[in-house]
Amino acid sequence: MNKKITLTIIIGLMIFFINAQNTQPHNQKKYIQGVNGTINIEYSSLAILTAIINKNLPNGKEYNPNPDGEDLQRDFEIFKNIYGYKNLQILEYNIETQQELIIEKIKKASLPKTINEVGEKIAQKNLKRHIKVLASDSLQGREVGHPGEFMAAEYISNHFKSIGIPPYKDSTYYQKIPLEQRKIKKAIIEVDGAIYSYKKDFYTYPNFSQTQINSNEIVFLGYGLDTKNYSDYNTDVEGKVILVFSGEPKDEEGNYLVSGGEKISPESNWKFKLKKAKEKGVKAVLFITENYQENYERSEHKIDHPGVSLTQKEEPIPFFYIGKDVVDNILGKNKTEKIKKKIKTKKRSLSKTINKKVILTTKNKDTFFEGNNVLGFIEGSDPELKEEIIVITAHYDHIGVIDGLIHNGADDNATGTAAVLEIASAFQLAKKSGINFKRSILCLPNSAEEKGLLGSYYYVENPEFPLENTITCLNVDMIGRMDDFHPNDSNYVYLIGSDKLSTDLHKTSQKSNEKYVNMDIDYTFNDPKDPNRFYYRSDHYNFAKKNIPSIFYFSGVHEDYHKHTDTMDKLVYEKVEKTTRLIFYTAWELANLEKRPEVDRENDFKLNRY
Ligand SMILES: [Zn+2]
Repeated sequence: MNKKITLTIIIGLMIFFINAQNTQPHNQKKYIQGVNGTINIEYSSLAILTAIINKNLPNGKEYNPNPDGEDLQRDFEIFKNIYGYKNLQILEYNIETQQELIIEKIKKASLPKTINEVGEKIAQKNLKRHIKVLASDSLQGREVGHPGEFMAAEYISNHFKSIGIPPYKDSTYYQKIPLEQRKIKKAIIEVDGAIYSYKKDFYTYPNFSQTQINSNEIVFLGYGLDTKNYSDYNTDVEGKVILVFSGEPKDEEGNYLVSGGEKISPESNWKFKLKKAKEKGVKAVLFITENYQENYERSEHKIDHPGVSLTQKEEPIPFFYIGKDVVDNILGKNKTEKIKKKIKTKKRSLSKTINKKVILTTKNKDTFFEGNNVLGFIEGSDPELKEEIIVITAHYDHIGVIDGLIHNGADDNATGTAAVLEIASAFQLAKKSGINFKRSILCLPNSAEEKGLLGSYYYVENPEFPLENTITCLNVDMIGRMDDFHPNDSNYVYLIGSDKLSTDLHKTSQKSNEKYVNMDIDYTFNDPKDPNRFYYRSDHYNFAKKNIPSIFYFSGVHEDYHKHTDTMDKLVYEKVEKTTRLIFYTAWELANLEKRPEVDRENDFKLNRY
């Protein structure tokens, strides 16, 4: 028999004798408040307590108390059977203090001792519980500015509160995002006195301020491209209205002139063209739109759905997609094919100033509202390094209700949000267990991502914690499905961006995976040549743009992406769990690195997001 147990029994017997002299009747039942309700502890004893704390049973077997003191009844049954009921009937005096003491000791004894034990507490059942709330119909697809978004924000901040994270800067969990919703009330294009009507002859999206432009000329500017291999900007366009083709020209062999190959270049995207035009001082862009009706129908949602933008963000210059009647009026009848052919054979641009009077008018209806980034700040333990922060982001907003259908956004991005909530819990648990981490963690479920990464953009422009001390961003967006490339393998995850700015970050990321979880890391989308360009398509990009090394965790797209069929029954919870653990352990390693990841690389994604 080991010493501790001998000692325990001696103490037990002593108290038993003291107790026996007590005149209080023993028939009164005593209860203890466990996590799962009250249980009778008439047979409680120091012996139990001792064994629980030492994780050691009198029969020499190891005893593992249930985490958080749950299942106390079960635990007491074990002890009762081992010790025998009668011998343990002690400690009836001062029972109130003993109850608290016992609970406290049990809880303490059941706390994890290692970081692996903490990580293992990240469990499917908790992740699923969060997803069930976030992706429920009552949240109506969590569109920013709608009640469902705020319900989600409240759920998130309540979770932070429940695990003991205080409001940041002692005041709130929310960072308000000032937003503007815009709908086009009226739009008119007039060319040389002919008036064209909105939607029938031309269309646009509610992305720019209302406008009134009068010009006596229009500059036809080929495809509106400006690249090393091919450029249309060979003439003065400052303050002009330009007319351009959509897309990118091909040579006679069928290769694109910008990319030189079969793949269309990113510069030919309309957003990129608008950005370029703005840089060059252009006033407005008219896009020649072939197959007008087809294009119009495909874009109908974007045309009719109000546009949302940050009140303080730069906006594009006015742009219009014009159909055949307007194009013919400007260029002359059926000229487009001839011009295209010329560019094709000559492999260079054609531009021309057309002296026609043009008037572009739009009137908007603007409403102002706010979205919410939610901040859970967990302070690190090192007196100096705690000033440095690892930010973990996941957008919790989604696209709301479209055509009466609730878009639940279970994968996109209730999964990532749930991951951040459980990572917050894990860091809090480590802290409570005395397993220290040096740097601080900022859990940042953010909003308005679906409107163009606006919440994270607002955060980096108005950071609540200094960006120069923000050493890394780990972003989670869609980690719950399996894509066509891995139909039978739930152990994969795509990592994007880990090596783009910092070799140290990439190494830490690799090492964390090898040390703790061993997932199959797929770097397909990390290739700057990948046409999907996911690197630009989620919130980490706003941090990367500020030169903060960032990783995007992602499980790929699927047929339910941005559809009302992205529901929680299709998620692979095992995958959500494993990926969440990987992110947690990576954050853990980063929080404890001796030196912060050095920014030693230039990003090989050369173009900015357009
Ligand atoms: Zn998303």
